Amino acid sequence: NRKIIVQNPIVEIDGDEMTRLIFNTIKEKLILPFLELKRDYYDCSLINRNKTENQVSKDAAAAILKYNVGIKCSTITPGPEHIKEYNLSSLWPSPNGMLRNALNGTQFRESVICKNVKKYVPGWKKPIVMARHPFGDQYGGTNITVPRGSQLSINLKNENVEENIKVFNYKAKGVAMMTFNTEDSVRAFATSCFRMALERKYPLFFASKSTLLKEYDKLFDEVFQDIYNKHYKQQFEEAGISFEIRLIDDMAAQAIKSKGGFVWALKSYDGDVLSDVVGQGFGSMGLMIHSIISHDGKTVLTEPAHGTVTRHYRQHQEGKTTSTNPISSIFAWSRGLKHRALLDNNEELLNFTKSLESSTIKTVESGWFTKDLAACIKGEGFTDSDYLSTTGFINAVSAHLIQNK
Ligand code: NAD
Repeated sequence: NRKIIVQNPIVEIDGDEMTRLIFNTIKEKLILPFLELKRDYYDCSLINRNKTENQVSKDAAAAILKYNVGIKCSTITPGPEHIKEYNLSSLWPSPNGMLRNALNGTQFRESVICKNVKKYVPGWKKPIVMARHPFGDQYGGTNITVPRGSQLSINLKNENVEENIKVFNYKAKGVAMMTFNTEDSVRAFATSCFRMALERKYPLFFASKSTLLKEYDKLFDEVFQDIYNKHYKQQFEEAGISFEIRLIDDMAAQAIKSKGGFVWALKSYDGDVLSDVVGQGFGSMGLMIHSIISHDGKTVLTEPAHGTVTRHYRQHQEGKTTSTNPISSIFAWSRGLKHRALLDNNEELLNFTKSLESSTIKTVESGWFTKDLAACIKGEGFTDSDYLSTTGFINAVSAHLIQNK
């Protein structure tokens, strides 16, 4: 059978532990038999980050900007316990920070929906696309411990003023935090959320706490409203979708009652926490996909939303069979390749990505799945014969994919 030709390369970023094994099997069984694909390969495993003194992460970031599509495996963020296991010369950070900074984009997360997977929130029928603004706030802020008897103030200085704004007098020991953001970054974030809502034809909600943070969160509200009025109102009306600014507590309650089917834009911390809540609400973290889209929409990095699943990797090292859910890794491949197809105008590749996704969902819906989904499908009393191994599941998807051709 003829393979589909992919004109331009994708950047493949390899990683660690269980997800590395899964990525290898996906390539071998679901990608390379069907595609004539050039892969610009970077091994960002902890071993190779250590060997290259993390040069490999820098090279990977540059390559993604060059080819506009990156597909990334999960990677270990090392702690002191990894120094001995991997013989580390330094605690090389996860490549994620470097890649995210290089892309300077918005993080989107959503869950893959299979009809037979019972959701913890049973009313959700369509995906909820979570959009997180990954700049500033708590993640770029400074937090300190403050000794008792201290006075805390903000010192603001520019060419026109020097102002000292009192914050708090400490009678006892305490803590303090200072966070920041910029209008430019919020504008870029809002633009990618409007673009995503239009692409998916889903309504968009931006939720914050602007009743409390009357300056900080109000900037976000104002920017979203301004961009909507100036650039997206007409397109949204034509597409029959809406845009609303909500209070975050109100929106959280509304989301639980909803049927899904919307884009939910959030500040960084809110997005971090609530995307895990929503991910679990749909059944399993193994079903959640993650992509970072640059603000101009041109460059996309996809990866599974979970880590390297160390617990299962230890079982594998002991020679035991594992049952790790590879679905979000499969979708990292399909969504990355979908972006390649759109950039290259490659209809055949686009159809292949659709077929790969529908074959994966069909496999689950026809009763073949990994252990994490067994409880959501069979109930708590499931047995070992109710689920497949990691490789067994990928083989079942491959059989569906071949049938679909
Ligand atoms: P993890 O997501 O790897 O696993 C946590 C638990 O969730 C597992 O023990 C398992 O019970 C369950 N789980 C996660 N994915 C699953 C799947 N596909 N199928 C079945 N069950 C699944 O998180 P962790 O154990 O906290 O972290 C392990 C390593 O991954 C750490 O080194 C961490 O730094 C790294 N990490 C990397 C990324 C990334 O590269 N994007 C993200 C998170 C964690």
